[in-house]
Amino acid sequence: MKTCDQCGKKAQTVEVRITDEMGVRYCEFCPDCLKKYWNDPRVLPTRFKDLPDAEPFFMTTTNGFEGYRIVEYKGIVFDESLTGIGFRTTMKSFGDMFASLSGDQMKAVTDRMGQLKEELVFRLKYKARQLGANALVGIDFETTFPGPDAIMMSANGTAVRIRKSKEKPD
Ligand SMILES: [Zn+2]
Repeated sequence: MKTCDQCGKKAQTVEVRITDEMGVRYCEFCPDCLKKYWNDPRVLPTRFKDLPDAEPFFMTTTNGFEGYRIVEYKGIVFDESLTGIGFRTTMKSFGDMFASLSGDQMKAVTDRMGQLKEELVFRLKYKARQLGANALVGIDFETTFPGPDAIMMSANGTAVRIRKSKEKPD
């Protein structure tokens, strides 16, 4: 059990990333405080855990789902993450990366990228839920190398509500 940074209660807390006029910081929130900030875009959980009462959620990189139709568009969601990779490289692109890194470094970078991708997917889903969506379509990732020891990954998608299509008569 940890202590909630918001209300001081001992609870099973979730780490959240808060972005406001003071910059970016990380805090531990109890489930009650998390729910209170559910609609606040400045507060985002960093771990991949759904709220227990959340409805099923669907995600795809394509424009729709077989057997479902889009009934409402809720808007585009976007998020990005910048991370250090722990060593300096000269890479400006994936091509450079494959040419210049040792096996261990390559593994560290690909592991970190996988982790970033998971975090981004989670945050997109969280933001889409805040908009009242039950699905994300057209999810797209972009990776850039803004410095010699950093990776930046961004992702976006369209938040929608989908409903099961009626069966077509034969
Ligand atoms: Zn709390």
